[in-house]
Amino acid sequence: MAEISAPKGVRDILPGESWKWAHVFRVMQETARHFGYSEVHLPLFEHTELFSRGIGDTTDVVEKEMYTFLDKGDRSITLRPEATASMVRAYLEHRMGTLPQPVKMWCAGPMFRYERPQKGRYRQFWQVDFESLGAASPYADVEIIAISLELFRRLGLGRLEVVINSVGCPECRPEYRKRLTEYFASRRDQLCETCLARLERNPLRILDCKQESCRAVTEAAPDVYDSLCGECRDHFDTVKDGLDALGASYRLDKRLVRGLDYYTKTAYEILSGELGSQNAVCGGGRYDNLAEAIGGHHVPGVGFAAGVDRILMVMEQQECSFGPVPSVDVFAVALDDASRRNVLQLVNMLRRNSIVAEMDLGGKSMKAQMKAASSRGARFACILGENERAGGTVTVKDLATAEQRELPLSSLVAELHNKLTSTREG
Ligand code: AMP
Repeated sequence: MAEISAPKGVRDILPGESWKWAHVFRVMQETARHFGYSEVHLPLFEHTELFSRGIGDTTDVVEKEMYTFLDKGDRSITLRPEATASMVRAYLEHRMGTLPQPVKMWCAGPMFRYERPQKGRYRQFWQVDFESLGAASPYADVEIIAISLELFRRLGLGRLEVVINSVGCPECRPEYRKRLTEYFASRRDQLCETCLARLERNPLRILDCKQESCRAVTEAAPDVYDSLCGECRDHFDTVKDGLDALGASYRLDKRLVRGLDYYTKTAYEILSGELGSQNAVCGGGRYDNLAEAIGGHHVPGVGFAAGVDRILMVMEQQECSFGPVPSVDVFAVALDDASRRNVLQLVNMLRRNSIVAEMDLGGKSMKAQMKAASSRGARFACILGENERAGGTVTVKDLATAEQRELPLSSLVAELHNKLTSTREG
């Protein structure tokens, strides 16, 4: 029978990589804490309606990319393609509007989109998602952008570009939409098939098209800034001023509309030249009408999602640090069969004292155990035989220098901690 491999577009994160992911999540957790965000765990699947109403029926995500199926109770279920709609659903469902506002939450986990897999684009990928709910102030937008920047700074990511835009609100967007439709309609012949379809349904998305001919047309498209209402304009000015105050540089891009319908006012992305065509490490913005779109009351909100797979790709390329490489401190070796029981106890005692300890589990000879100790990259071998058992001692061999000493069991932990700390610091 043919071997079964993982489906297209998904991947395994194996031990050689997973410790690097753990580092990234530790940094995220710390950063979230410093900005006052609480972690939540949300379901991986939701009622399909949450996304079709929340993200918007005319978006690529909803039209083409969702993993949707009927469950055994004939309900339409979708594997979440993003987390914002779920976060807002949870806020409404748990009546978080009664809590002090804004409610600041974050989560991390896999998202699912049926996309064409390529470098940096998968069908199951990880996002970290930060949302500030119940905050209409532009300072909440600034805080959101600031967290993403701080996160990347702590991870050591360099050469990033922040791109921002305002996409207006239900007050001023219809006017802008009208101007755009007129502009694009007069240049129909230069638009690609997809954009022709977008012309009626969602002309803003044409601004986002990557096709050469469409890009050339969008170059001179009406400027969103000329259509913003007073409130949107003031909001955007305060966001820009807040970023200036933080010394964060950014580029304005009137073509940044992002793929999801729910954005109002601020939209932003953080790009890395290291990623090729899938160059966004993070995207976000304000979505003041999302809660109402999914049947709730009015809840202004702003947030971002960053792609963890892509963050790791950039970190690898920029040779960022992932913290200490996992290593074995001690490999315990039994000189004879009678000592195996003692080795088991020794390893257990070392582990309880926060020393990374390993032993042979397969009844190997002493020589094979020593070989295993070095192939596991252990710093020390702790050897136990008849003499050591009788004297209550352990022979400690430094595998880097081959230096060997017999130590009383009672001082072993302290000695090892000393040596390990000086090695780590050295
Ligand atoms: P979005 O929800 O589309 O704004 O995506 C937010 C971030 O998630 C992007 O900036 C990417 O870093 C990441 N991302 C989105 N789609 C994928 C995908 N198919 N594979 C890997 N990362 C993705």
